[in-house]
Amino acid sequence: MKKNEIVEVEITDLSYEAMGVGHVNGETVFVNNALPGEVVKAQILKDKKSYAFARISEIVKESPDRVKVPLRQYVQTGLTSLAHLKYDKQLEFKQKQVKELLSKAHLDQIKVAETLPSPLETGYRNKAQVPVRMVKGQLEIGFFRRHSHDLVPLEDFFTNDPEIDRVLLAVRDILREKRIPAYDEEKHQGQVRYLEVRRGTATGDMMVVLVCLDRDFPGLHSVVDEIKEIAGVKSIFLNHNSKRTNVILGEHDYHLWGKRYIDDKIGDLTFEISPQSFFQINSLQTPRLYKLAIDQAGLTKDDLIVDAYSGIGTIGLSAAKDVKEVRGVEVVKAAVKDAKNNARLNQIHNAKYYAGKAEELMPKWAAEGLKTDVIFVDPPRKGLTKEFIDAAVKTGPKKVVYISCNPATLVRDMQLLMEAGYTTDLVSPVDMFPQTPHVESVTVLERTQID
Ligand code: SAH
Repeated sequence: MKKNEIVEVEITDLSYEAMGVGHVNGETVFVNNALPGEVVKAQILKDKKSYAFARISEIVKESPDRVKVPLRQYVQTGLTSLAHLKYDKQLEFKQKQVKELLSKAHLDQIKVAETLPSPLETGYRNKAQVPVRMVKGQLEIGFFRRHSHDLVPLEDFFTNDPEIDRVLLAVRDILREKRIPAYDEEKHQGQVRYLEVRRGTATGDMMVVLVCLDRDFPGLHSVVDEIKEIAGVKSIFLNHNSKRTNVILGEHDYHLWGKRYIDDKIGDLTFEISPQSFFQINSLQTPRLYKLAIDQAGLTKDDLIVDAYSGIGTIGLSAAKDVKEVRGVEVVKAAVKDAKNNARLNQIHNAKYYAGKAEELMPKWAAEGLKTDVIFVDPPRKGLTKEFIDAAVKTGPKKVVYISCNPATLVRDMQLLMEAGYTTDLVSPVDMFPQTPHVESVTVLERTQID
C-alpha cells in the first residue's frame, strides 16, 4: 500500500492502544478511531511492510457502539483515544484485554471480574500537564497531534476536573497578556514549556507549576502576582527544565508563592502532596481501588506489611490501623518526605517510609531476615523485577497484593510469583482512566506452599 492510498477495510479488532485493526491483502492495518464491526475507507499514513497505519476518510458501516466525540481535536491528539466507544463497551474492552493476556500465558483458569466503572466518566482528573507553544503567533495550550509535536490548541480537556481547565485558561491568558514567550522546541528557546495544575478534590485547593526553560526571566514576578489572584490557587511553583528533552519535568522545583503542597483526602486520611510526588489522578475512584486491594488482603493486627512503590504513602497509611507495622519504599525522595509527613499528620505511628529502589531495598531487607505478612506492590508500567520478586518471596508473605497499571507486565510478574508458590483465581480491573485505553487492576496472590 502506498502513502495516501485509500483502502476499504473491515475492522475486526481493537488494539491495546485503541486502534481499529483490519487486514488488506494479508497486511495488518491499524486505523485510528475505527471500531470492530465497522467497514471504513481508510487513508494510509505510513506503510511499514508488514503493517500500516491509517486514518478514516469515510465510515461505510458504523458500529452501534460508536458515540460522537465532542471535539475532533480529541481524535487528532489521542488525548482521549477511546472516547468514540460507548462507556460500557470501554469497560468490556479493558476486561477482555486482561483475559486475552492471561490466555496467551495459558492462565485461562484465572477469572477476570467486570471492570469497576469510574464514578465520573469525564472531568475526573485531579491533575493536568499541558504543553504550551506559539501557534500562529499566539501562545496556546493544548495537546500534541498524534505522532508529532504540533500543538493542537484546546480549551476543554474533557477528562480534567473543569476547575483545572478554568485555571489553565486563566494562566494562559495571563501569559498572553504579559507577552511571555512559549517554548520553541526546535530553537530551544522561549520560556514556558508546560503548565501543570493539580487540585485537591476534597479541599478545592489548586497548585500551579510553570515548567520553564530558565530559572527566572523578565516578567515572571508579575505573572506570579496575577496567578495568585485566580480563585482556588493556593500554591505556585516553577519547575526548571533547561534540557533538550521530551521529559516534561526538570529535577528542581522552585517555590514562588503560597503553600508548598496541596491537601487532599482519601477516606478519613489527609494527604499533603508536593509538586514531584505521584498521587492517583482519579480522586473519586482511588478509595474504591484501595478498598478492593485492602479488603482482599485479609489484614490482622499482628501483620507487618510492605507498601512498595508507595508514592506519598497512601496505600500503607490507609491500611495502617489494621496492622502492626507498615514499611514503605519509594524512589522519589520528595514523595518519601511526603509519606513521612502524612503519617505524622494522621497520627499514624506504625508506618516507616524509606527512600530507594524497591528492587534494591527489598533484597536488603530480605538479607537482614525481615519477615512480612502481606506485600502491596503498585509499580509503574514496567512492573516488578525478578530481584524484587525473589526477595519479596524470601520474606514469606501470605499474600502479595498487586495493583497494576499495565496488564502485560502484571501477567509476566504473576507467572514468576506462581512459580514461587503463589496463586490466584481472580484479577479485578478498575477503571481509573475513562476515555483512554489504560487498564488498572487489583490481583491478590496467595501462598499455597510452605517450605
Ligand atoms: N502507591 C502509590 C504510588 C503508585 S505510582 C499510590 O497509589 O499513589 C508508582 C510509584 O512508584 C511512583 O511514586 C514512582 O515514583 C515509584 N517508583 C518508580 N520506580 C520505582 C522503583 N524502582 N522503586 C521504588 N519506587 C519506584
